[in-house]
Amino acid sequence: MGANWHDQRAEEYERRSVEEYFALEAAEPIAQIRKIGSRRIMGTAHGLWEVASERAPYWVMTSPTALYAQGGYRDLEDAFTYHLRAWAEVMDNHDTDIPDEQRDRLAGPWRQWRQAADALAHAEEAEEFQAIAARCRQCLLALVHEAAADAMVPEGEQPPQRDNFLQWSEHIAAAIARGASAERIRAHLRATARSTWQLAAWATHYANANDHIATLVLQATYHVLVSFGLILCTAEHDAPQRCPECASYKLRTAYRSEPGGEIVPLVFCQGCSWEELLPAAALSPAEEQSRG
Ligand SMILES: [Zn+2]
Repeated sequence: MGANWHDQRAEEYERRSVEEYFALEAAEPIAQIRKIGSRRIMGTAHGLWEVASERAPYWVMTSPTALYAQGGYRDLEDAFTYHLRAWAEVMDNHDTDIPDEQRDRLAGPWRQWRQAADALAHAEEAEEFQAIAARCRQCLLALVHEAAADAMVPEGEQPPQRDNFLQWSEHIAAAIARGASAERIRAHLRATARSTWQLAAWATHYANANDHIATLVLQATYHVLVSFGLILCTAEHDAPQRCPECASYKLRTAYRSEPGGEIVPLVFCQGCSWEELLPAAALSPAEEQSRG
């Protein structure tokens, strides 16, 4: 069977990397080696190996690979718990890279992404991996729903349908990364949005979807959220907290199409008629000093 053949190849590959790791870390010849199991936690498969030298028995666990002398732990569970803590630290550091402001601005999409990532921990069948890709699509749609504004659409054009991800992501990219100096940023936002959307759409219907494909879609979606969140927040960042005319806190960010066709972000007061154009903050580090 194809699946068994694939599993055997994967195990053989893992065995070799465990042997190489053991040779480096323990620097003792291997007397015995066998796989005793594998655990999948949060979408990551950790292989569990028992490796003995002439002198002592060890466990080697993968993702990330580490060696544990059996004498140093109560039992396998104890050692595995220790292993997971080390792994969780790596994951946590990855996660906390995103500033709260960017997370809050796209709270809905991030919630969807987290649910999709959690689902990977329990997925076994192709349909379950397809469902993760489908959830990533919902997450991308939530991104355009939260970031889109009709004023981002150039004069004379109809706003796209609410769920037209490809067109909305183009308009959003043009509005939040504007001007000649932001051309590369704009192109990057558009290209990653487009290819991630198409990847997720394909994986949603791919009959042989597996954990590698679901992981790829999750990572690509993660990258789109991070990129759009960063540029969106930077574009909106320098808005004042209170209206300078009436002191109201009811300030909102909006976008307006200028006579030349350029889309500019502005902040306006809901309490009076005050409004002000926002600088192209993504591109002017000089504005950095005014941050609270
Ligand atoms: Zn006001």
